[in-house]
Amino acid sequence: MTILRSISELRDWRRSLGRSDRLGFTPTMGALHDGHLEHLRRLEPLVDLRLCSIYVNPTQFAPEEDHARYPRDLARDAALLEEVGCDALFFPDDRAMYPEGYATWVMVEGLADRFEGEHRPAHFRGVTTIVCKLLNLVRPDVATFGQKDAQQLRLIERMVEDLNLAVEIVPIPIVRDPDGLAMSSRNRYLSEGERSRALSLGRALRAAREVLAGGGSRDEAERVMRQRIDPGVELDYCTIIDRQTFDEPTDRSRELLGIVAARVGATRLIDNMMLTSD
Ligand code: AMP
Repeated sequence: MTILRSISELRDWRRSLGRSDRLGFTPTMGALHDGHLEHLRRLEPLVDLRLCSIYVNPTQFAPEEDHARYPRDLARDAALLEEVGCDALFFPDDRAMYPEGYATWVMVEGLADRFEGEHRPAHFRGVTTIVCKLLNLVRPDVATFGQKDAQQLRLIERMVEDLNLAVEIVPIPIVRDPDGLAMSSRNRYLSEGERSRALSLGRALRAAREVLAGGGSRDEAERVMRQRIDPGVELDYCTIIDRQTFDEPTDRSRELLGIVAARVGATRLIDNMMLTSD
């Protein structure tokens, strides 16, 4: 695997590819787990070459958030990427991505203000800006984004459409640990007790799905979902929305998505699940 540590190295590598080579791209913040590796596995049949980026983007973290202590382990991550046959790793630094005088931001209006955007102001401005920059630098044919970050995925799909970016976005389903916890680089912060409380997020989503499958109403499903959340968990939101619009479901909503965000001790976790499909 080629490790590209600067923008010029990335550009040289990109230029060295054949014109007919299809390039797949998975952007990450590192501390890789099986959820990330699943993106690269799913890319394999779709493209000729795969590039992963690791960059802990400072502009998507609020000052009180965990940017400084976000787990970083390049040697381990590189070994995992080698194992799945990734062709290149782009590992830029802050000076390359945000040189002095940096002043340009990409913002998706509306959806970016709700749910995650409400609880983490400026987060999505950082996300859409860095993803736009990375897509411009890498110029992939296909890029993967996880359903784990459902709102982020929706925003990126919107941005790609609105800015006419020539890339196909491939959503990747959530990979969970055997106990049902959605894999996250932040799970390593959880104590044993916190982890068992965190399991109530996935349980709540599954319970809501069962209520709807049994013919229950959306209100009932939402009530059951909230009841199943461990009382030791501090909820930011726990609700059922229309998967396409992220609005309250209407009679015409065909796909309902359960979304939940909560603080478990000092760690903030998010999870979601498709509750219906037509
Ligand atoms: P991150 O390193 O947290 O920025 O995540 C990089 C990409 O991996 C994003 O597109 C995430 O949505 C995705 N991702 C994170 N966790 C999972 C998971 N458990 N299953 C599948 N994809 C994931």
